[in-house]
Amino acid sequence: MIVAAIEAGGTKFVLGLAKTDDAGLALPELLFRESIATTTPEETIDRSAKVLAAAGKRFGAPEALGIGCFGPVELRKDHFDWGHVTSTPKPLWRDADVATPLGEALGLKAAFDTDVNAAALGEGRWGAGRGLSDFIYVTVGTGIGGGVVSGGSIVHGSSHPELGHFKPARVEGDGYSGYCPYHGACLEGLASGPAIGARWGKRAEELPEGHPAWRMEAAYLARAFAAFACILSPQRIILGGGVGMRPGLAEEVAELVGIELKGYLGWLSEQSARKAFVVRPELGADAGLLGAVALAIGKSGD
Ligand code: ZN
Repeated sequence: MIVAAIEAGGTKFVLGLAKTDDAGLALPELLFRESIATTTPEETIDRSAKVLAAAGKRFGAPEALGIGCFGPVELRKDHFDWGHVTSTPKPLWRDADVATPLGEALGLKAAFDTDVNAAALGEGRWGAGRGLSDFIYVTVGTGIGGGVVSGGSIVHGSSHPELGHFKPARVEGDGYSGYCPYHGACLEGLASGPAIGARWGKRAEELPEGHPAWRMEAAYLARAFAAFACILSPQRIILGGGVGMRPGLAEEVAELVGIELKGYLGWLSEQSARKAFVVRPELGADAGLLGAVALAIGKSGD
């Protein structure tokens, strides 16, 4: 089956066509991928539909459509705003309808979820979450978000979890006020890429190995992951995103999670268990797009 996949991000939309086997078990073959800049909703949606329609003529018409979208989004199926982006800080996209116009333009019913829920589904099907019933995918980049798989299903709750927007305890000596426009010093406000840049006066990718920024980053993520471990009891946390995939960060966070928990969770007391508890994504840069493919071919927990 040919599947159309869209990783709808706040700065770019990644568009793809993938070929899957009937059972969706083998890693899909990406036949086509192209990124376009995110501008206004109307223009971005129109261009996305045109690019995918043209690609469909070359590679075969898609039979399913999956969209993993930046959020927050409305996911309640019976809500009149289903498929919309809702309270985003990006003013042009506030209350913008994404799923319905894209589906109508391509003549397909869209499977729609958050970008992180899609990435979690993709990692679960083909990546670092394979064979696990309970795991979390966390992205740390321009924002912080996470998708939770519990008992084999994506957790939606009232709509979708927002793992980046609770307030972790302060790391000693950190006086930075926080970057989140809604909460200031929530996890995203303290540990996202823009927060690191604003606190240290340098872009995160310019901060060298050994800079105190990285120890602080690992400490905040460890506090968050210790909380997730206590509340959700995941078997694994997959740490993705432009900042999260920094070499060595997952290992350092895993060690600090052990220190945070002080041996309380017995199953995390061995060093080898902690090493397997926080890992990098296996699908790498394709996690978002393949996640949208997973959304289209599987059920998003409904
Ligand atoms: Zn926040």
